[in-house]
Formats: sequence, C-alpha cells, structure tokens
Amino acid sequence: MDKSQLQRQYEQFKAQGLKLDMSRGKPDAEVVSLSEHMLNPPDFQTKSGGVDCRNYGILDGLPEAKELFAPMLGVSPNEMILGNNSSLAMMYDAIVRCMIYGVDEKSEPWSKGKIKFLCPVPGYDRHFAICENLGIEMINIPTNQNGPDMDMVEDLAAKDESVKGIWCVPIYSNPTGITYSDKAVQRLARLQTKAKDFRIFWDCAYTVHHLTDTPDVLLNILDECKKAENPEKVYLFASTSKITFPGSGVAIMAASEKNVVFIKKQLGVRTIGSDKLNQLRHVRFLKDWNGLQKHMRRIQTILKPKFDAVTQILERELTPFGLGEWHNPKGGYFISFDGNPGTAKKTVQLCKGAGVVLTSAGATFPYGNDPDDKNIRIAPTLPPIDELVQAMDVFCVSVMLANV
Ligand code: PLP
Repeated sequence: MDKSQLQRQYEQFKAQGLKLDMSRGKPDAEVVSLSEHMLNPPDFQTKSGGVDCRNYGILDGLPEAKELFAPMLGVSPNEMILGNNSSLAMMYDAIVRCMIYGVDEKSEPWSKGKIKFLCPVPGYDRHFAICENLGIEMINIPTNQNGPDMDMVEDLAAKDESVKGIWCVPIYSNPTGITYSDKAVQRLARLQTKAKDFRIFWDCAYTVHHLTDTPDVLLNILDECKKAENPEKVYLFASTSKITFPGSGVAIMAASEKNVVFIKKQLGVRTIGSDKLNQLRHVRFLKDWNGLQKHMRRIQTILKPKFDAVTQILERELTPFGLGEWHNPKGGYFISFDGNPGTAKKTVQLCKGAGVVLTSAGATFPYGNDPDDKNIRIAPTLPPIDELVQAMDVFCVSVMLANV
C-alpha cells in the first residue's frame, strides 16, 4: 500500500463529486415497486370473515392477517398482536409498559428500580437509542458466529436483579448477519435470572429475508421457553417493513397467551385497534405463507447481486493486504465490516469526504461507543448496483488510507 498512490486515487474519487448513501438499511425503488399492486388490488373487498375492515374493532388484528404472519414467528394466532406500521414502535411500547405496569399483574413496575439491558454487540442502533432515551443502562455482550457470549449473559443475568432484559436480532442479525445456534437459543430460553420479571426482546426483523436457497434456520424460542416452563420470558417482534413498504407495513408482536392477555389490557386503553385495512391489503396481496415466500424470492433476486458485489470488492481490494474481516451473510440487510482497531471513524470520515455516506462509526454499539473503533455497518440495499460498486471502491481506498 503506497500512501501517495492511495491519496491520488482518493482525490480522483473526490473530484467526481459523488453523492452515495449507504447509511441505512432501506430497500431500493425496484424492491418496493414489487408491492405496488397491493395499493389497489382489483378485487379489493373491505369485508373479511364477517369483519368490516373500514370500521373500528378487533384490538389485536385481523384474523386472516394473523394466519398469514403466524409462520414468520412460528406462533399461533392467539399468541399474536398485530400493530400498525412499525415493530420498533411496538418494542418501545413494550418496554414502556414494563416500566409503568410491570410484566404482569403481580410484578412491580420496572421503573421502581434501576434497569439494565444486555446488548449483544455489534447490534442495532435504534434498540440502543430506545434504552438510552428511557434511561436504561446498557451492558455490551460480545457476539460470535453462534450468537451472544452466553457464559457472560448467564453470569450477569443470574447475579444482578436490575438486569431486566436482553436485545436479540436472532436471525440474519443487524449488522453481523449471523443466526443464533440452537444451543444459544436453548440457553436463552433456560436462562436463570435473578430478576423474576426478565424479558428477552426477540426482534425477528429479517426472519424471511434469505439471500440464498439454503437459508439459516432459527430454533423457535417460544417453544423452547414453553419446554423450559417459562413461556412468559420472551416477547417476539417482526414486521413487513422489508417485505412490502418500510414505514407503511404491518408490525407484529407475539408472546405467550398469558402475556398477550395482560398486554391487551393496557393496549385497549391506548387504542381502539390497529389499521385493519392495511392488514387486509397485505392478505389480499401476499395471500398465504407460500405467497409471502414467493414474494421474498423476488426480493432475493434483486438484493443478492448487491451483496455479492460488496463481498467481491472487499475480497479483491482488501484481502491481499490482510485488511478487515467480514461475514458473507445468508440473509438480512447488512454486511458488518471489522477493520483494524482505531480505524473505523477515520474510514467513515474519509468516505464522507469523497461523497459516500455510511452509518456513523460506533453506531452499532450502545452510546455510540465502539471501544475498539473498528466496526462499520455496510448497507448495500439502497444504491443501484453501479453506484454501489463506486461506493465500495471509495470504501476500500478509505480503509487502506486509514491504515497507512
Ligand atoms: N429491527 C431491526 C433489527 C431493524 O433492522 C429494523 C430496521 O432496519 C427494524 C427493527 C425496524 O422495523 P420497523 O420498520 O418494523 O419499525
């Protein structure tokens, strides 16, 4: 790596006046247009199973929509609550409910004492933002190919009553793309916690978002919790944000029937019900589990070449210099890049200087603080492929410059 040559290459990129955004995991126009038909299906009827979806009613969501989405989380319809357009909002509400009312009739509100959450890292910045915003202390838990460091999780949960929860993106994790092993899921389901009101926040945002024909398989945590005689321990979440329209999809929460009954009591005060017309549009468009999977295969065809382009360029440009580590994900929305310690901020700054916007370095850690300053989340889904290739060329030169 010759510094002056790299600097010349970098200046050439800069002179092109690029404006490329790879900062967030957003689908491109081609992906969202696959669902356009949903907005005005020719046979759209507003009645479903005797329910007039144009009117108030049904707090926990349209039965047909529950049937459609139940296999995504491997739960039964009476273990589900359908929400509006954002699963993140459902997670936020779930935590606020625990803080105000406790997890069930008998328990104290979390807010009576100190609250700590275990945060597998690198992780999803918006999970961490919820905790920071609500004054919940976050503890970093390193992750490996199999999931979080379970020895550490077990140790911390067993000895500290203020540890009330853990964030998990268990399949095609944001940003590492890994899927938790069966063993990790089982250990989480059997977790002995000092806090009797501990909850696992199981965010399956990418559960059907496969990039290969040999998808990862995630063990069903609600079943495992039932086997461990603690079905109340987990709250599951998903949405159609990366299936149909981000920001205008259907959000899903699932939990044991007992949890669902308790949650519905508070929820019924907050709302008369969620947007059934949107749920119905999804049912009419996706039809059933097979239809949903068929739709996801169309998305896979658009996204796979983008992920391939990123990993091929990383390999071509950086592997010869032994720079960086990354995971070739089998699904999800991100590629997690680990550079040498102390280079992530510099790399992101150099990219920005040449017109390529990435997620801020540190964002994948609680409080925006990556202790090693090495992790960068690459989001390849939004830019068209020619722009993505340009952006990755800039990225690789920036990585090299940050290292010399
Ligand atoms: N959870 C994870 C892990 C995500 O990556 C995202 C979006 O990127 C969300 C949740 C947001 O989901 P929603 O649009 O349903 O709020």
